[in-house]
Amino acid sequence: VSTLAPPATRRAASAAPTDLEVPRVLPVRSLSHSSLARWERCPEQWRAHYLLGEREPQRLNMTAGKALGGALAAFFKARMNGAQMSASDADDRLLAEFGTELRHTVLEPKHKPEVVREQCREPLRHYLETVAPGIHPVAVEREARARFPGAEWTFVGYIDLETDGGDVVDYKLGERHVDRRRPTTDPQPRAYMLLRLLEGEPAKRFVFHSLRRGKIGEDADRFRPMPVEFTPLQLDNFQRRVARVAREIARAVESGDFATSTQGWWCGERCPHFARCPAGGLR
Ligand code: SF4
Repeated sequence: VSTLAPPATRRAASAAPTDLEVPRVLPVRSLSHSSLARWERCPEQWRAHYLLGEREPQRLNMTAGKALGGALAAFFKARMNGAQMSASDADDRLLAEFGTELRHTVLEPKHKPEVVREQCREPLRHYLETVAPGIHPVAVEREARARFPGAEWTFVGYIDLETDGGDVVDYKLGERHVDRRRPTTDPQPRAYMLLRLLEGEPAKRFVFHSLRRGKIGEDADRFRPMPVEFTPLQLDNFQRRVARVAREIARAVESGDFATSTQGWWCGERCPHFARCPAGGLR
């Protein structure tokens, strides 16, 4: 577990030391980039998810992504162990992972899981043929943790792939590529880069390995690398953001006052807590 506290030399001159003060305990054992994003979207949704345990059902898209991630993890783990997994074995692994994940998936009448399962195979084949040969993995599905001094909770990340070229990679599989703004707007890249920095092994860059499933046009790309780099100051600022969210959570828990946020795409019928939320379905 690394320590969340930047060397003083990297701190912005304007940053007050209190920027990094955090509560000793939180009602959760760890925060992650996704819990941070959920809190910033809607504290009441965060409470329902993490404190009341009202978890969203797994969707078919997520099932597809997990199956691809599982197959690629097995492929690169074999390579790290000096073995070679064949494309056909990786394909078998993908289908097996899909079957396992499907058991936890909530399907809607319009969903066709057998179609989605088939759609996952071409991106995997393409990746193994055109991208994987150039990758030298040093870690696969690794858990990275950091702790603020004095805190009992940690900040955690689960990194899909790290390469000897200094890339930190997260796979994304969808019908469309990852939005071009996402590398800079999503907290995940900053979170993983910060964790690597605190481990004393700063990564060169974060890269979404975006893959498209389903039919694509002749000119369209099946795979798109979406890299992003951050300055030490940007990562320091992200660290303050984690500390601020931790303080906000502690204050809300103490007062029992969790704010609701209805002004974004996340609120409405798509929110799993909508039906019982005072600011949602009960309006
Ligand atoms: S319905 Fe809206 S306000 Fe209520 S928890 Fe969900 S996102 Fe938040």
